[in-house]
Amino acid sequence: MSKEQYVLISLPSKGLAYEHASSIKIRPFKGKDEALIAELPSENLKKFVTIIKNVIQGIEPEELTSGDVQYIMLWEAINSYNRDYPIKLVCESCLQEISIVCDLGKINNVELSDDFKPPITVQLSDRTIQLHLLTLSDEIASFNWGMKGKSVYLHSYALSIVDKSSTVVDKIEMLEHMSTQDLNEIKEFHLRYNHGPDMEAPYTCPLCDYEGKIVLPFRFDKLFSFSKQP
Ligand SMILES: [Zn+2]
Repeated sequence: MSKEQYVLISLPSKGLAYEHASSIKIRPFKGKDEALIAELPSENLKKFVTIIKNVIQGIEPEELTSGDVQYIMLWEAINSYNRDYPIKLVCESCLQEISIVCDLGKINNVELSDDFKPPITVQLSDRTIQLHLLTLSDEIASFNWGMKGKSVYLHSYALSIVDKSSTVVDKIEMLEHMSTQDLNEIKEFHLRYNHGPDMEAPYTCPLCDYEGKIVLPFRFDKLFSFSKQP
């Protein structure tokens, strides 16, 4: 068996979101990982866990926060392929459609606020609740929930509520009856502790030299060059 070279990685969450995470290491994709990625869109997201398990050491992939997962995929795009992200857009200045290539290496990484210590208690109008950051296992649960044709809007907020005595259906029902002000407190929590790549890339318009910024969609077919359009 060939030796696999792992390198230490510093994630946007800085490890603050995890109880048991030793030094986290990563390695670039190999052919076997690319084969899994290529099949992803049509497959169950569980395969995604396998991909991350294959390249990450020091933490269980299901526990990774969504922000750290995005960072890991961006790291793989840059280190396994290249930094190019080709995209068509309408220039904000001359309003012409242009084709450009954004540099993934210039994407800013938002770090988790240092005051984060899970779970976080949030005061609502009539009770306190405890919340955690959404993880890969939550993302998968939401994806599967959506596949059943159910609304995922409240589902992901429900998953972030820490309460072992109630089911996700109970939590959704609680959210359905919650005032929008209280619901806003939950949204605020997720905004305050948002972390990971912001996917905002600078571009220069080839027609008018305007220097603008664009938020790149987080799409595997755009991130990984083996699947990029020629
Ligand atoms: Zn322009």
